[in-house]
Order: sequence, then structure tokens, then C-alpha cells
Amino acid sequence: MVNIERKEYCAFHFHNTTDGECANCGLAICNLDQHYDVQANRLCQICFNLTRAQKIARYMQFGLWGIIIGLVVMLYLLLRNSGQTFYAFLPVLLLLVVPYALRPILMKLYFRDLQPIESVLPILRYFEGSGNIDHYKLFMKFLGKLSEEELKDIQKPLYDYLIPALAFNYSKLPEDWEDALTKNLQISKERFVDLLTEDYRQVLIQTSVHNAQTNMSLFIFYLSEIASDMNLIKEYITEMTSPEVMKLNKEEVNIIYKSLLEDLYLYEDRFFNFCDELGLEKQKDLLVQLIERFDPPPVPKNQLEAVMTIEQLREKRKKEAEQDTEQAIAAIVDVAKEQIEADQDTEIDQ
Ligand SMILES: [Zn+2]
Ligand SMILES: [Zn+2]
Repeated sequence: MVNIERKEYCAFHFHNTTDGECANCGLAICNLDQHYDVQANRLCQICFNLTRAQKIARYMQFGLWGIIIGLVVMLYLLLRNSGQTFYAFLPVLLLLVVPYALRPILMKLYFRDLQPIESVLPILRYFEGSGNIDHYKLFMKFLGKLSEEELKDIQKPLYDYLIPALAFNYSKLPEDWEDALTKNLQISKERFVDLLTEDYRQVLIQTSVHNAQTNMSLFIFYLSEIASDMNLIKEYITEMTSPEVMKLNKEEVNIIYKSLLEDLYLYEDRFFNFCDELGLEKQKDLLVQLIERFDPPPVPKNQLEAVMTIEQLREKRKKEAEQDTEQAIAAIVDVAKEQIEADQDTEIDQ
């Protein structure tokens, strides 16, 4: 079993212990990273590049507008007698195409002054957090540039960053990801599977239960399948139904284990099938209890609600429920009041 210690060394210079974090993205940095923003916050190389790149992006945008306006005027003058002046506005479409085409160039600017070996860990962290497939593609590009020696040198930190990034974003990976990745890592597929299911086994099980992301259970199912290792699922389900999780009340469990509950709710049948296959009767009962405690995300009722986040929608439903209760109480109070008044009226009549 391995421990993930990526907080202890610099993400850019993995031979160095870290002495702080980037104020912008939180990556671990070391005494070789001495960049600061205007407020004197310490930045990593990428966030430092980002401010410069954003400036360049702004200039490019101004330039683009200039070119478009120029083209429109020119075409308009050319076409004004033809009755087809509409075509003069076609250059406006460049606004859609050019920024998209320039994205790879901007990405390159972010990694300016960085060697591929200094870039692989940061880009993995970005991919882990964002799930943005462009980040993954860039990671693969940097990885492909590493020599055999460099790969050997960076091995431990690389896997410490890579494995959570894969587990968190498994459902977003491209179809042939294992082939491409093991080729770039210069290891066999078998060794890769061993790494995941043996060296990082405990880390993966712990993370996928106690720090789960949506769809992470699919990664565990997938691993158990390629490694022909049903025990992995057994350990996973056992951890999910451990006292640490089961002792929590409905509210707590929905906050701390939100993504885990979502997966359980989404892939209920698969979980139950595994329990049956593995003879985990007790755990199956506990899973049922967990699902009962799950508070599924509210479904939007109209267009207005469709644009709200799940959290906003939850808040709204809570308020609506409170309002309903208030109204119900008010109605009861009204009825009681009427009753009292009616009683008083009859008393007076008598
Ligand atoms: Zn940063
Ligand atoms: Zn550093």
C-alpha cells in the first residue's frame, strides 16, 4: 500500500519539498517558484503565465474586432450595389471560430518557461479538479515527451497525481485511454492494473468512499473487472457500510457522502447484484438503509428553475416547505380564532 504525499513536495520541482501554495490555484510550490501578483501574493508559474496570457488574449480580441470591422466595411462597400449586402456581415462569424482555434495557443502560453517534466504534475491536478478533457490531452502530450530516465525519476509523484485524477474523472476519459496512457507511461497494461489494484488499492478504496466524486464507483467496478478481482468490490462495499458511514444521520450523510449516495442511487441494481454474488447479505441491508437516507436532487418544475443549481433548488424547496408549514399553521390558527369568536358570539347571544 502507498500513501499519497503530494502535499509534501513541489508540483513543479518534485525533488524539492514544498514551502507554500500558489495563492490562485493552490498547487504546492517551492523556493524556486518566486512569482508574485500585484498584491504580492505568491503565484505558481502557470498562474503567473495566466495573467500574461490573459493580457495577450485581450489584445487578440481587440485585434480581431478591428479586423472584423475592417472586413465588414470593405465588403459592404464592395457589395452595396449588388443588393447582397447581407454577405458583408459574414466576417462576424470569425468571432465564433477564431477564439476556439486560438485556445491551444493560449494553453501553450500557460505552460511557457516550463519543461514537460515540470508540467505533468500541475496539469494532472488541473485535470483532477476540472475534468476538462483538454487538460488531459495536454497531460498526454507532456507525458509523451518524457524520456525513459525522466519517467523513472518522476514515477512515484506521477502516480500519486495520476491515479486520483483518473479515478475522479473516469467517466470522462477517451475510449482508448488505457492503451494510449500505458504507452506513454512506458509500462505494460498488466503492470498498470497491478499498480491500481495492489499498490494503490487502499488509497483508491478510501478515496472512493470517503472523498467520492460522482461516477467513481464505475471506476472501482471497472478495475475489479479488468483485474478479475471481486474482492475489490467486496472491500469497497464493506467500507461504504462501515460504522463510520452508517452512524451518520440523514442530513450528515447527505452532506459528507453526497456523491457516494448519488452513485448508490444511480447504480443500485449493480450494487445489489454484487452483494448477491458475493454473499454480502448484511451489507445489502445496510446499502438499502443508505439509499433510504438519500435525499435525491430536486427536479426543476419550470424553465426558471432549470437554470438554478441543485443547491439553489434545494434551498428553494426547503423555503417552500417552510412556507407550506407556516401557511398550514396560519390556517389552523385562523380556524381556531374563528372557533373562539363563534363561541364568544354564542356566549353573548345567550
Ligand atoms: Zn497557481
Ligand atoms: Zn518548485
